[in-house]
Amino acid sequence: MAQLSDDCFAFNGPLLPIGEAENLIGARIAPVEGREAVALRDALGRVLAENIVAPINVPPFDNSAVDGYAVRGEDLAFDGEKRFCIVDRVTAGRAAMRALGAGEAIRIFTGAPMPPAADTVFMQEDCRLEGDHVVVPAGLRAGANRRLAGEDMQAGAVALPAGRRLSARDVALAAALGLTTLVVHRRVRIALFSTGDEIVEPGTALPRAALYDSNRYLLAGLIARFGAAVTDLGILRDDPKELGRALAAAAADHDLVLTSGGVSAGEADHVRSAVESIGRLVFWRLAVKPGRPVAMGVISGGAANGAAFVGLPGNPVAVFVTFVRVVRPLLLRLAGASPEPLVAMPVRAAFSYKKRAGRREYVRVALRKAEDGVLEACKYEQDGAGVLTSLTETDGLAELGEEVTRIEPGATIGFLAYASLVG
Ligand code: AMP
Ligand code: MG
Repeated sequence: MAQLSDDCFAFNGPLLPIGEAENLIGARIAPVEGREAVALRDALGRVLAENIVAPINVPPFDNSAVDGYAVRGEDLAFDGEKRFCIVDRVTAGRAAMRALGAGEAIRIFTGAPMPPAADTVFMQEDCRLEGDHVVVPAGLRAGANRRLAGEDMQAGAVALPAGRRLSARDVALAAALGLTTLVVHRRVRIALFSTGDEIVEPGTALPRAALYDSNRYLLAGLIARFGAAVTDLGILRDDPKELGRALAAAAADHDLVLTSGGVSAGEADHVRSAVESIGRLVFWRLAVKPGRPVAMGVISGGAANGAAFVGLPGNPVAVFVTFVRVVRPLLLRLAGASPEPLVAMPVRAAFSYKKRAGRREYVRVALRKAEDGVLEACKYEQDGAGVLTSLTETDGLAELGEEVTRIEPGATIGFLAYASLVG
């Protein structure tokens, strides 16, 4: 399945820095095997399994970039104005009937093929009509307002590389090349569970001391954005035997088993011991806040190479943060995608904050434009790891590095927009 061997992670220390977790994932997780051809309209979010080589030039022919008048470059050496005789008219989708001679112009529209001998187009806004002549100003350089065949993409060039996770922009380029199917990696298969005696499904009665499950909905939504296939396996009780059985069964036909809750050190937290009984745990504490208890490992299951396992924390905000920092790179790697590093944008802090050195923290912030026009990050007041509104009422995460201990208003901090985190 996930091409994992039991010794694929080698870290046993107490709190694993995020960078090291990412390195482990990058170095030791192999893409799933198997590829398929998908129709262009089903290709969004899928990962290319081979390079796309352009079969044709884009654009396929020289054409006009504007509505105007096409002339020959050698007729451009003049001062003041010059009159050209209009000898033909060519619209997009048509070709000119004749080549241009000296002192002649052809009325042309955007996207129409350049007439033979013409290489320059005057914009109609710059021209004046006088009967069947057009008067144009001096100063245009030869080749202006013409789009060359292949200037966007040359036939034979690599248009999109293997490992590319296809965006709508990429699919548009494939369409421009006339392609109808693309060869992609098969979807990563993910088994998704929530855990906890207190967790119940929306739509059922809410007993005293119970909570509706939000994590599975958060995770299923995030995973869908990565083009993976989710099997929603519901909610597991805090029972070691039930957990072990369910996780082992899921590992047999999935590449990744993903849970939330039950991975900290409480007496009802049985996920780690369940995984240890059916596989191997590699780390379970990450130097991140929120989200410290996050477990990763391998479940032997029935699959030849074992399925990857990630046990996320229970608190929804911690689930989101650890998804971004652990599940996202793991998913991309399993899917055969090239690494897509997250780039934090510099913004100005409008808050003060104290933190401990040695772990990375993610503060939920809303952006606003300050009076001087600079973007400022405002911290959401309630910063508990269980406060879901801190995710719904903000624009992204401020990323405070391991070395940072204090943020004062005015400091430059890194901002990760939610939209950039899930692709
Ligand atoms: P745990 O790590 O299992 O102790 O969970 C930490 C916190 O997250 C507890 O307050 C749980 O009730 C909460 N929690 C766990 N799973 C979920 C879930 N699926 N949806 C919402 N909250 C959860
Ligand atoms: Mg729990």
